[in-house]
Amino acid sequence: MDTVTHVEQIFAKNVFTLGKMKERLPRDIYKEVRTVIDNGGELSKTGANIVAKAMKDWAIENGATHYTHWFQPLTGITAEKHDAFISHPDEMGKVITEFSGKELIKGEPDASSFPSGGLRATFEARGYTVWDITSPVFLQEASTGVILCVPTAFCSYTGEALDKKTPLLRSMEAISKQAVRLVNLFGNTHATKVTPSVGAEQEYFLVDGDLYRQRADLMFAGRTLFGAPAPKGQEMDDHYFGVIRERVGAFMKDLNEELWKLGVTAKTQHNEVAPAQHELAPIFETANIAVDHNQIVMETMKRVAVNHNLRCLLHEKPYAGVNGSGKHDNWSLNTDTGVNLLDPGSSPNENVQFLLILACILKAVDIHADLLRQSASDVGNDHRLGADEAPPAIVSVFLGEQLEDVVRQLVETGEATTLKEGGMLETGVSTLPDTKKDATDRNRTSPFAFTGNKFEFRMVGSSDSIADPNTTLNAIVAEAFCEAADRLEKAEDFELAVHDLIKEYLTKHQRIIFNGNGYSEEWVKEAERRGLPNIKSMIEAAGTLSDEKTIELFERFGIFTRVELTSREEIIYETYAKTIRIEALTMIDMAGRQIIPAVVRYLKTLAKTVNEMKAAGCESATVSGLLEDASSKLTAMKQALDRLQAVVDQAGKIGDEKEKAFFYKDTVRDAMDALRVPADELEMIVDKELWPIPTYGDLMFEV
Ligand code: ADP
Ligand code: MG
Repeated sequence: MDTVTHVEQIFAKNVFTLGKMKERLPRDIYKEVRTVIDNGGELSKTGANIVAKAMKDWAIENGATHYTHWFQPLTGITAEKHDAFISHPDEMGKVITEFSGKELIKGEPDASSFPSGGLRATFEARGYTVWDITSPVFLQEASTGVILCVPTAFCSYTGEALDKKTPLLRSMEAISKQAVRLVNLFGNTHATKVTPSVGAEQEYFLVDGDLYRQRADLMFAGRTLFGAPAPKGQEMDDHYFGVIRERVGAFMKDLNEELWKLGVTAKTQHNEVAPAQHELAPIFETANIAVDHNQIVMETMKRVAVNHNLRCLLHEKPYAGVNGSGKHDNWSLNTDTGVNLLDPGSSPNENVQFLLILACILKAVDIHADLLRQSASDVGNDHRLGADEAPPAIVSVFLGEQLEDVVRQLVETGEATTLKEGGMLETGVSTLPDTKKDATDRNRTSPFAFTGNKFEFRMVGSSDSIADPNTTLNAIVAEAFCEAADRLEKAEDFELAVHDLIKEYLTKHQRIIFNGNGYSEEWVKEAERRGLPNIKSMIEAAGTLSDEKTIELFERFGIFTRVELTSREEIIYETYAKTIRIEALTMIDMAGRQIIPAVVRYLKTLAKTVNEMKAAGCESATVSGLLEDASSKLTAMKQALDRLQAVVDQAGKIGDEKEKAFFYKDTVRDAMDALRVPADELEMIVDKELWPIPTYGDLMFEV
């Protein structure tokens, strides 16, 4: 049957894998490539030329016409500029295909229009893309034909990072170096490298393409700006893990196949909590590859959706009143000798290396809770973090009963002599097997949860790049490792010193541990009492980037310079203001040109009816009542619309980017909310035939 897809056959078909390199490259060149991937350094000029030629031949055999340096500027999405493989024609008019080592390694996009937060003035627009040899090149198949994509980092003429990837790679080197120091102290002298592994679970919504095109808010803002709740939402819990509908299933099948061809290990798929919400999770991999792959996942979702006349909404909060979307960033640390440093083993209470690593991570998260929260902020995520939705904006760590008990013992007595066991799961049915339980239940409300052998950072937004959160995690943990190693390397009695250090760190930073319900009002108060930051919005979090504590951290490990950080802060204010402005303008447009005219039409039919009823000598009070009600709501709506227009105009006059961003947050957003209220009320009373845009019911239940 040729409709059956053999995963093994198509997996990584469009990736220039190590396997393909091994086949196609001379042995010494392949070895050179491996050495650079594993240990750093640069390819020789000859090596680069040979690799480029092999890549080009493979790409052309598979139908490619162009190549591109694929990079991740500060927009948070990817950028590409295609160049055909053709050379200058000879005098007979014949062209040959070309792709040199130089073209592979370095590109120079004239990229002055990317956000740089003042790092690059337009008159000094030079920027370079540089090949990230550790992330494999791949073929992108789209309507443009087949394009060879070379993952790259993007830097300015003076070497400042203009992208999300460069700092990530720098942070990976930092944490590797510091983690190796620690494991060496524990006698593992074979480990030369420690790599952060990341698995990002991606949530998304699907909506019908025809309905999408009728909603300016979905098209311009990626979320609904108006919309009364549908009679049914998520209250029945019948969508989560529910049977996947046929149309969605067909989308998922295509999506998986496209991703597998690109070497993305799409593994798990299911319906999520909200109607029309779904999730895809890949198998974890090295952090920078996971970051690239998550970008590919998001892009492929959007592309495949269009082929099914669907649209994929990656926004964190497409619909009010039902769950929004996030991205759980699963993170662990693995040595090149195959040890997961976050694996507690069967007796975590006696696993000193694990306990030290855990203590360091708790310390890192406690000291830099604000920065970690910042790393997961984007405009859409403000509707989740700090709003009435999961996860809370307060960073805390969930360890689970077993580890929490170990920590308690260590803090109290310096020893953890007992270990809570999970026991057996008894179902009470003789034909069902009794199975061993985990020692710890799960907690779904924690923003940073230990889940067995990894941490799950759940604050990240669904549309955001996972580069920043992972850069930050790597950096803060590298700092804690470094400080621990500095002390332990000097210690005369290592065992005693580790023991004291673990106790000290746990005692000092235990306030960050919280195993309870993170959504509760009590926790907000308790966190305040503990002195944990509760930063409600993206732009309030942005200031963390220019804290001396942050600058010191990032400069110390060569991840960001002071200038890079302040420029990123600046971009956050700009992005925020621009995004809210687009939303506000979209509301003004929809209210003025769609909703108000529809309400006026409705009023007209009511008024006509009242007159006709009166003329016929009929009791018209009910219809008059409807007319008055709708009319007064329309008045309220028009006033709110005028107010929104006025504050948007006012915002346009503010010069300072930070001030402007705060004005959008504090004033424009209030005016937007105020406009939405009467509009949504009108939706509930105006004739559906006249309502100009698809309703929540249509959007969420028509997939
Ligand atoms: P859970 O049930 O805790 O959500 P899963 O096994 O379903 O865990 O994994 C969720 C995500 O975490 C997947 O993307 C998976 O690949 C990733 N993951 C699993 N183990 C690790 C690990 N050691 N390091 C990083 N990510 C991991
Ligand atoms: Mg999940």
